[in-house]
Amino acid sequence: MPVSCTVVVPTIGRPSLDVLLDALAAMPGPRPDGLVVVDDRPAGPPLTVERPGLPPVRVVRTGGGGPARARNLGWRTARTEWIAFLDDDVVPDPDWYQRLAADLAGLPADVAGSQGRVRVPLPEDRRPTDWERGTAGLATSAWITADLAYRRAALAAVGGFDERFPRAFREDSDLALRVMDTGARLVRGDRWITHPVRPVDRWVSVRVQAGNADDVLMRRLHGPGWRDRAEAALGRRPQHLAVTAAGLAALGLAAARRPRPALAAALAWAAGTAEFAWARIAPGPRERAEVSTMALTSAAIPPLATWHWLRGVVTHRRVTPWRGLPDLVLFDRDGTLVRDFPYNGDPELVKPVPGAREAVDALRARGVRVGVVSNQSGVARGIITREQVDACMARLDELLGPFDTVQVCPHGPDDGCSCRKPAPGMVKAACAELDVDPARTVVVGDIGADVEAAAAAGASGILVPTPVTRRQEVAAAPRRAATLSAAVGDVLAGRW
Ligand SMILES: [Mg+2]
Ligand SMILES: [Zn+2]
Repeated sequence: MPVSCTVVVPTIGRPSLDVLLDALAAMPGPRPDGLVVVDDRPAGPPLTVERPGLPPVRVVRTGGGGPARARNLGWRTARTEWIAFLDDDVVPDPDWYQRLAADLAGLPADVAGSQGRVRVPLPEDRRPTDWERGTAGLATSAWITADLAYRRAALAAVGGFDERFPRAFREDSDLALRVMDTGARLVRGDRWITHPVRPVDRWVSVRVQAGNADDVLMRRLHGPGWRDRAEAALGRRPQHLAVTAAGLAALGLAAARRPRPALAAALAWAAGTAEFAWARIAPGPRERAEVSTMALTSAAIPPLATWHWLRGVVTHRRVTPWRGLPDLVLFDRDGTLVRDFPYNGDPELVKPVPGAREAVDALRARGVRVGVVSNQSGVARGIITREQVDACMARLDELLGPFDTVQVCPHGPDDGCSCRKPAPGMVKAACAELDVDPARTVVVGDIGADVEAAAAAGASGILVPTPVTRRQEVAAAPRRAATLSAAVGDVLAGRW
């Protein structure tokens, strides 16, 4: 296909994944550059995804982190200009590759995303159930990631999906609003997927009430006008609050031995619940199973919706804008990743600090790239040779690699080069090599020159002092951590 694109499919191993992969393998048309399947199961044997006809496929695992984290790992793993998200329960039309290529070709630079079109098949011989009607709403929803392609740079600029949304609900609307906040546009394409109605048990309408807490998070993040911008209808929460209040009042008044007002409140509760149940039964098939399910769940939903909404109000009292992970973390070598032996030229003396391996691996596991930026003025001073530096870097790579970039400055302090930290040259070169925005880059080092180089390049710096770090440099550092592990922990928690 003319534009470079990776298809990203997060999955919890549902059988529908096989249907999707079969469709992606069999359909004609220009293949995207790659397919990333993100296995979001907490554990289990490897998924069987390979089949002839698929684009080059990679499987990565989250260990179970929810859909937002899975999609983030997917796009961070991919390196193409475009990322096309597909849910694991959809079936693309046979011309999907062709139309995807056509949808993305020639889009102006200010268009950051292209939405696919969704068709939900409903039974023809009867009226749809409550759940079927709800699923059918996907067909007219705005910016749903069942089939949505984003520019990778647009995802990187906003830190991807906000992982504080724990389920597949609102996380896609939130992303769309943040991307549009940057001034970019989202458009609708002409490719189609079919989204079948998933078989569910009768309590599904009760479980989805948890989304009321996510709505609170949306309001906190995007303000009271978020529903208009996200084209998300308010639904019946005001009625649910009123019905729940009437029910509680009835119980309270009965306990206070005030039977008449208690009866009035109970009648108000019953009327509200009956109206809700009928509103859900009337457009449906009115079969016995559906009617009894609607009757039962219509009594449960108002208090549960209210409960989850209150839970959200408490949980999301204070929220900060989503920062996400950086795209690149650059480490100083001596005194940061490995113990400091001044002007070391001996690979045998390359000894990682405690927790170094786990720290760099934790970043890699989340799709964050890692590199090294190292001053080696021993070369200019004639104490060690460039070959010795390279041998020590090779040893570092054995112990803690692979690194996505390794930058070395062999110059001395008086050479006036632009690479020796605190100059920003190596940080800028690493970002340029990997096509990463310095603003999405963190530098971790043990002296002031490391964090000054970060600041000069427009990156964030975290100082991990050692006993020999100067006190003024510790005091001046914008961010500090006690150990390398703690610094990486901060980065993974969005504190960078
Ligand atoms: Mg150092
Ligand atoms: Zn230099």
